[in-house]
Amino acid sequence: MEQLKLKSKNQYSSTILKFKLKKKVQQNGAVYSITNSKIQSLDYQAAELRKAKSVDIIRFNDGHKHQVRYQKGQDINDENDEDAIGELKEMESLFAGSSVSSVSCIFEEDTENYYTTSVVACTVIREPEQLIDKDLMNLLHYIKSLPVPEEADLKDKLVEFGDFTRHKTLIWDMDETLIHTQLLMPDQETAHNCDFTITLKSGTRFGVAIRPYTMKCLEHLSQFYEMAIFTAADQEYADLILDQLDQPRTLFPHRMYRQHCVKVEDAYVKDLRIIVDRDLEDMVIVDNSILSFAFQLTNGIPICAFYSINKNQDQEMLYLIVYLEEVYYQHKDVREANKTTFKLQDLINSMT
Ligand SMILES: [Mg+2]
Repeated sequence: MEQLKLKSKNQYSSTILKFKLKKKVQQNGAVYSITNSKIQSLDYQAAELRKAKSVDIIRFNDGHKHQVRYQKGQDINDENDEDAIGELKEMESLFAGSSVSSVSCIFEEDTENYYTTSVVACTVIREPEQLIDKDLMNLLHYIKSLPVPEEADLKDKLVEFGDFTRHKTLIWDMDETLIHTQLLMPDQETAHNCDFTITLKSGTRFGVAIRPYTMKCLEHLSQFYEMAIFTAADQEYADLILDQLDQPRTLFPHRMYRQHCVKVEDAYVKDLRIIVDRDLEDMVIVDNSILSFAFQLTNGIPICAFYSINKNQDQEMLYLIVYLEEVYYQHKDVREANKTTFKLQDLINSMT
């Protein structure tokens, strides 16, 4: 395999890096995204390629991206990409004894406007556990140390959702999950990337950026799920934002605020048991902090925090749609899907 020229780490372009992040999120779910860490599993050794089960070929042709995935032992069905087939056939020998995930390969255009066969970047994506960083483990250790409240401790926080409108309930965190706000200075009209502004009774103003694809995602998922907001923010602040996103209250008929959270040391935990007329097997909560669903880890779907600075690149909502549809159609108990996908409960159970 003479053409295999693996570049060193410092030759990665940001485009390639972005691609890798995206693939990681797609393949390993939010276990990676919540760690928000640098890529830990980069390896440029040909030996690693041999462990791969699949390879993604990305080509850039006149600005258009063309992608082919090749699974070891499978035929490529893309007749329009004979070059890729040829190259991949050559690579096949590298795939003996595969045991791990996938490899991403990006082929670069050469100066004569056709593609080289060099692998310019490869990412060996290992098992999700290997993508987990220290911060996540520390957070899980902390969560494990927290005393789970008795049901009696929740009695002043209980809410009822009333009649069922759907079979399952999807609960959303607000800040850094659906939106990001920036405090505005008195002389500041608005802030970069903001979609609207809100003003508290105190006169304090915030610019609010809506996460990309959020409204489309919410509208789509509301066909399947009954939806609610559960924010650790003050009600006045949250309602000003939610009234802009959802007025009249069609997307989120139910809103829960800071006063519904359980205060544990400095954290506000969203204990889903306060929703008295829904079963835990039917509820999922999407939150950028796993601490928010510390007492029901398997009900939680972690998501990367959204800050308006990365507004143009953020596609987390698109990944969520795919996952949440799968959960809806394939799982009677939503916790089973989350347990398998994010493995947070397994991790915490394995801690001594
Ligand atoms: Mg949040």
